[in-house]
Amino acid sequence: MRQNIVAGNWKMNKTLQEGIELAKDVNQRVNAITPKCKVVLGTPFIHITEVVNVVDGDKVAVAAQNCADKVSGAYTGEVSAEMVKSTGAAYVILGHSERRAYYGETNAILKEKTDLALANNLRPIFCIGEVLSEREANTHFDVVKSQIKEALFHLSADDFGKIVLAYEPVWAIGTGKTASSDQAQEMHAFIRGLITDKYGKEVADNISILYGGSCNPKNAQELFANPDVDGGLIGGASLKAEDFLAIITAF
Ligand code: PGA
Repeated sequence: MRQNIVAGNWKMNKTLQEGIELAKDVNQRVNAITPKCKVVLGTPFIHITEVVNVVDGDKVAVAAQNCADKVSGAYTGEVSAEMVKSTGAAYVILGHSERRAYYGETNAILKEKTDLALANNLRPIFCIGEVLSEREANTHFDVVKSQIKEALFHLSADDFGKIVLAYEPVWAIGTGKTASSDQAQEMHAFIRGLITDKYGKEVADNISILYGGSCNPKNAQELFANPDVDGGLIGGASLKAEDFLAIITAF
């Protein structure tokens, strides 16, 4: 069953204490309503265990923002999918454009990370999206198609069904410049079409495809009203409980 999801991506923000406070605040607000979506908090690694302990797991799940492309061993500074799973996280954000751009993550590396996440029962929130020059050159559909094909289309239909996709046009991330509702719907429908061609209609219908990129309390409702937009991956606006809740209630 396709699920609506609103996932926060805290990125490299919040001390441990600030993060616990924010998680408690979000949890309390979510519990005061009946959300029409699954809520996920994408926290830094060091916050995960503490955040898992202060949220009601049936309503608020926790995601890591990355995991290693190796199983275990001498990889100083890295955190494996198995380690992430052992903290109580249920999701892991993979392939965020900041990781692709600043840490050299390629589709081949992301394929490894995806396999390790799935092998450890973590659900990847897998990010895809074009940069501005690619949209201007009208290659955005090809770019997104390659990202999905090269990192995910080796998966069985069963495993592919565990993926959450997040379409995040890079030019819209943290810029205050959101994709229009039509641009988001157009790309989401294209992505669902790719999945239909590869895995069939049932798998495609059940995949959640989130939109990310300057999604905020003002535009969330219009974006989420699109038939192929199943929620959002929220950066800046997930750092304030009030804003994040306004997005959660936009369904
Ligand atoms: P933003 O970030 O909401 O601050 O644009 C979204 C993201 O990078 O996931």
